[in-house]
Amino acid sequence: MQVSPKILVIGSRGQIGQNLVESLRERFGYDQVIGCDLRKPAAEVGPFYQVDVLDKDALKRLIEEQGITELYHLAAILSAKGEENPQLAWEVNMKGLLNVLELGREGVVEKIFWPSSIAVFGPNSPQEMTPQHTITDPTTIYGISKLAGERWCTYYWEKYGVDVRSIRYPGLIGPKGLPGGGTTDYAVDIYHKALTSAPFECFLEKDTRLPMMYMDDAIRATIDIMQAPKENIRIRSSYNLAGMSFSPEEVFESIRKHHPSFQINYSPDYRQAIAESWPASIDDKYANKDWGWKAAYDLPKMTETMLRELSHHYSIKITN
Ligand code: NAD
Repeated sequence: MQVSPKILVIGSRGQIGQNLVESLRERFGYDQVIGCDLRKPAAEVGPFYQVDVLDKDALKRLIEEQGITELYHLAAILSAKGEENPQLAWEVNMKGLLNVLELGREGVVEKIFWPSSIAVFGPNSPQEMTPQHTITDPTTIYGISKLAGERWCTYYWEKYGVDVRSIRYPGLIGPKGLPGGGTTDYAVDIYHKALTSAPFECFLEKDTRLPMMYMDDAIRATIDIMQAPKENIRIRSSYNLAGMSFSPEEVFESIRKHHPSFQINYSPDYRQAIAESWPASIDDKYANKDWGWKAAYDLPKMTETMLRELSHHYSIKITN
């Protein structure tokens, strides 16, 4: 009989963490999955501890006390927020990862997941169908920290045999949890605005295409890569992962099919330059070949699902 892993999700209150904890609990059992974050939850969310990932001793104590075998390390400062405070972004993103990798080296945990991002690419990377192995010259501190993190992951795998697995997430969109200060946040906000009948102010230009993914796909990929046999994970930096690609105008038009009176205005800000340094689409053939990855959502399917899920959420809010 297979024993369920005991899992810790660091950064469990974030946009991805909330969704990942819920899916992991459905799959492995409620008490098998523990959340931790710097911020305390507002309401009861099941087993949770308030821990700073920069405090390695506290993290180690928690892992040992709870008998944790697998770690999902999601705590980070994201791209747009990182540009406001580059020193903090470097400190949290690098030191947090190194603490977790060291716990792997010490044998405190067996398996680690850590996400990278399409932000590792830069202005000289090919923009269309960006390959797995290509020029990576990120311009943001966030991208620089993710690229350095990928090299650290490879180093810990090759030098110490730490079983660390990683995905370069594109921009993630889902009905649950608000985004935490990234350059693709507009693609979540636009669905909320569509349901509150307010016009949407977009901080990117209408034709800026970026790689995106529906949250359910991202969570499935995250759990799949962690459950894949060790020998299948041949890339130990981070796997390219593709879902769909669209521009603000394209997502706006897909929403207008359901809400014809919806309005949009464009006022690009500093995030436009970040978006322009990133790819428009991603080649994820290695993820497909090594551990069977295939996205299930395209833009029309995601729009339909987002509007349905969010309208349920807003009708509950209105009736309460
Ligand atoms: P988020 O900002 O929504 O959540 C991050 C969580 O980490 C927050 O709840 C925050 O309180 C917590 N945190 C921050 N500093 C901490 C610390 N020192 N100790 C403990 N917790 C701390 O981010 P997210 O969107 O959920 O992203 C999770 C991971 O996925 C990050 O590594 C991010 O870089 C990566 N990623 C996200 C996206 C996306 O579109 N959301 C895209 C690419 C990569």
